[in-house]
Amino acid sequence: MAGGTSRRKALWLLGACAGLTALGADAARPRAEAGTAAAKTTARARPAVTPTPTPTPTPTPRPAPWTPAKLTALDKPVKELSQLSPAPPPKSIALTLDDGPHPEWTPRILDLLAEHDVRATFFIVGGQVKEHPKLTRRIADAGHQICNHTETHPMSIASMSRKRVRGEIGDAHDRIADATGVVPQFFRSPGGAWSKTVLDVTAEHGMLPIDWAVDPRDWARPGVRRIRKALLKGKDGEILLCHDGGGDRSQTLKALADVIPKLKKRGLTFVAL
Ligand SMILES: [Zn+2]
Repeated sequence: MAGGTSRRKALWLLGACAGLTALGADAARPRAEAGTAAAKTTARARPAVTPTPTPTPTPTPRPAPWTPAKLTALDKPVKELSQLSPAPPPKSIALTLDDGPHPEWTPRILDLLAEHDVRATFFIVGGQVKEHPKLTRRIADAGHQICNHTETHPMSIASMSRKRVRGEIGDAHDRIADATGVVPQFFRSPGGAWSKTVLDVTAEHGMLPIDWAVDPRDWARPGVRRIRKALLKGKDGEILLCHDGGGDRSQTLKALADVIPKLKKRGLTFVAL
């Protein structure tokens, strides 16, 4: 337990060195219940700040160039990149991928993103990190942004008590940090379901709440054409929603293989949050 606490402190210190102190004192507040929950997991045994002895650089808390220093508690989730401060460069678009990592689809999506030299943002489920810690590290090592999408993806989160929301967000937060060395800075609620409690707990962890502007409903597998058509409506400054987890994502993969080069040809640059 003591080891876990000092590791968490070490992570926050790293965050402080990287300029994350501006995210607020709330972010550094130790959470008693997280220690209890985390102590049950074997992932705790792994040193967090030196996650894996691979030739690739050790991932560390990774502030985006325009990480909002002042925006810690928003009463509404971010839908467009212009809501970040300072705003990202013009002609930016952000691809977000939810519900992974998935052993079959996440590697294929990572290969596709690498092929097109695209950085994306992954909203990760803590339970999936527990199953696939190496794959989670692979996402971080490839330079993508790693974000919190709760521990168990409860669709009823907006009606949950503060205690349960703290468990969902805090457990995923610790698990992601332990597995990757990345302290998540962004949170997306399952199904985009928000409550004041969810927004408060997001802020307690120094994270920004993130929604989306373009939803192709790829999770429902509506067909490659429909997904492609919806994504091609994506414009400058918008956040696109897709999924790498939660089931068969072959349609998503095919659609993205077509959409990514097309949007790039329009002069848009894919940016991670
Ligand atoms: Zn989700």
